[in-house]
Amino acid sequence: MRKPQFSPTRIQTYLTCPRKYRYLYVDRLGRLLRPKSYFSFGSSLHRTLEAFYQAGGTQTQSVEDLLTHYRQRWTGVGYQSETQEAEHFEAGMRMLSEFFQTGAQEASETLWTERMLRADMGHFLLIGRIDRLDRHPDGTLEVVDYKSGRLVVSEEEVQTDLAVAIYQVLIARNYEVDRVKASIYCLRTQAKATIARDPEALAQVVSDVTEIVNAILADTVFACNPAACDDCDFVRFCPRR
Ligand code: SF4
Repeated sequence: MRKPQFSPTRIQTYLTCPRKYRYLYVDRLGRLLRPKSYFSFGSSLHRTLEAFYQAGGTQTQSVEDLLTHYRQRWTGVGYQSETQEAEHFEAGMRMLSEFFQTGAQEASETLWTERMLRADMGHFLLIGRIDRLDRHPDGTLEVVDYKSGRLVVSEEEVQTDLAVAIYQVLIARNYEVDRVKASIYCLRTQAKATIARDPEALAQVVSDVTEIVNAILADTVFACNPAACDDCDFVRFCPRR
């Protein structure tokens, strides 16, 4: 029997609203989700940076090359008007130009971008798509998680970010290292915060995630969380109680 797979998005959806989790992952009603401009915008930026690093990053690429990747990979779905789309497109041009001057010039080596990793946790698989993995001169590995909407980030926010914690576990398991750094990088402002997890901290993440997954697997009610309804596509038919 195939083991159930749990990604950060899937787990976070359950923590946000168990009923929404049921609609998406048990009833499989994902087709009812409407396109969102913030997903399109983030996807355009992620695919641009993937192409940039695949082509050699700053070793071989100019800022104009980076912006050409962006023009070629722009996705315009989910915007409410042409004006709104044009504003986002221009904002992306500015963000990437600034990224080239700052974040792209870091001393660490980028090993890869946009890769799906998995780890066998016994009765389930942990999976996650990681934006970027860097290696520092001392050999330390660093996960870089891009955010296209945020302006600021603190070390405490990185420390409590579930997705980041899962990415660190995935790197530790796949590369057989016992200490992994992780950063959240805000593309709008080039702000970045970094933390590291040692073996004890990584083991705590595994314990916490396993506890949540066990709760999901045992759930038969999938309670509504009315506090999370504002941006939910299921609001039209969900009882919300
Ligand atoms: S409408 Fe509200 S309660 Fe229903 S699934 Fe969405 S977030 Fe959850």
